[in-house]
Amino acid sequence: MRFEYEAAPEDTTHVNLQDSYGLFINGEFTSAQDGKTFQTLNPATEEVLADVAYAAESDVDRAVKAAQSAYDTVWSKLTGKERGKYIYRIARRLQEKARELAVLESLDGGKPIKEARDVDIPLAANHFFYYAGWADKLSYATFGGPPKSLGVVGQVIPWNFPLLMAAWKIAPALAAGNTVVLKPAETTPLTALHLCKLFQEIDLPKGVVNIICGDGATGANLIKHPGIKKVAFTGSTKVGKQIAQIAHAHQKAVTLELGGKGAHIIFEDAAINQAVEGVVRGIYFNQGHVCCAGSRLFVQERVMDAVIERLSRRIETLRVGNPLDKNTDIGAINSKMQLDKINDYISIGIDEGAKVRRSSCKLPTRGYFCAPTFFTDVSPAHRIAREEIFGPVLSVLSFRTTEEVIQKANNSPYGLSAGIWSEKGSKVLAVSQRLEAGIIWDNTFNQFDPAAPFGGYKESGFGREGGMQGLYPYLSV
Ligand code: NAD
Ligand code: MN
Repeated sequence: MRFEYEAAPEDTTHVNLQDSYGLFINGEFTSAQDGKTFQTLNPATEEVLADVAYAAESDVDRAVKAAQSAYDTVWSKLTGKERGKYIYRIARRLQEKARELAVLESLDGGKPIKEARDVDIPLAANHFFYYAGWADKLSYATFGGPPKSLGVVGQVIPWNFPLLMAAWKIAPALAAGNTVVLKPAETTPLTALHLCKLFQEIDLPKGVVNIICGDGATGANLIKHPGIKKVAFTGSTKVGKQIAQIAHAHQKAVTLELGGKGAHIIFEDAAINQAVEGVVRGIYFNQGHVCCAGSRLFVQERVMDAVIERLSRRIETLRVGNPLDKNTDIGAINSKMQLDKINDYISIGIDEGAKVRRSSCKLPTRGYFCAPTFFTDVSPAHRIAREEIFGPVLSVLSFRTTEEVIQKANNSPYGLSAGIWSEKGSKVLAVSQRLEAGIIWDNTFNQFDPAAPFGGYKESGFGREGGMQGLYPYLSV
């Protein structure tokens, strides 16, 4: 029997949502020089949330110059200890503002409030805390002598974890002594802009972090600006490849965190109920808009029926709908464009002959929503088994032997994440050492910690974020 839930909407009256936002350059909010703006929507209602200034090339130039001047006159002159104090203040202020930021994140991007509240915002604060602790210890770390900062770094981030990705980028850059120009994604600029208010509140020196909003053209102008010494990008592999070319042509340091098609492996000796919970976390967390999602599920043949039966039952209990409802498990797809892409892949899977299973839930009539979906009878050659869908759509494949699953898991242009379910620790370790994946979870999935380096192999990119390894790209060692 199914229980109906009463609506439990998060209060939004405490959120100071503005009608319009400027660019954050040299410590102030300013309009774009040509006055151009764009709109950011709430994907759950299709309503406009705010007008946001659109940075043209001249605005990018202003931001880079502000960051250069802050680097030359203030930030590069501070001791690590002093830089650390500012970064700690950012972390603490973020915690104080957590409620407002969680609601904004959910409104602007469509993610469930319980995830914004319990994952995105606390983890973002933790990244600042973690790297604040490194700022005064760089000389003692194993860099082989005191490392130097690089200068102004240019960072471009995606829409799936807007504030968290901003934290992943800004915290290590500042700890290492660099100044920043960052561009959020066009559908989710709001939390990064509210982060700027918090920089003002803690008196971060002007120009140390600048946030410019816009689309791919804005990002491209930032990447190629001659003042940028290092580029950090998270997003699609297609854009990542273009950025790598530009960065190499202009001798800029670069790190890329791109797409994935994570292998999630269930051995027959696994605890099946827990494994199915792990699968749900692996593919339906954040509507599947997760670069390290477990989007290829490999199940050992003997337990295939049991896994499918439980997973079919489990997706019926996932609540899809209003992201601001505290009981919602799956919120809105981030944009119309992304929803169209996901629906195209679902049609492709059906045309390829895979068998589709979807939750029978009723979707809201407004907004961009997608029911949790998985495919069985998938072959490794199917496009839905090879290409990143970036939505709540899982491909289930089978295997018989350990050798076979290692080979199948590695048969992908990507290599970001993997997960292994087995009661036998020695097997998990042995398999994990042969998987080409930057991060591997042992009897769990999608767990994050600022102390753990994160990054990919092959077309999932290069460079690590998080941990001491996450400092390297921001230092001249
Ligand atoms: P995208 O790569 O186009 O955009 C990511 C960021 O890069 C955005 O801020 C965007 O404005 C910027 N950008 C776009 N073109 C640029 C360019 N030429 N130079 C500099 N910056 C540029 O990703 P998307 O269009 O938002 O999503 C497309 C697909 O990418 C998704 O369906 C998904 O498969 C993948 N994706 C992966 C991640 C990830 O975390 N790895 C995140 C977002 C999207
Ligand atoms: Mn939005």
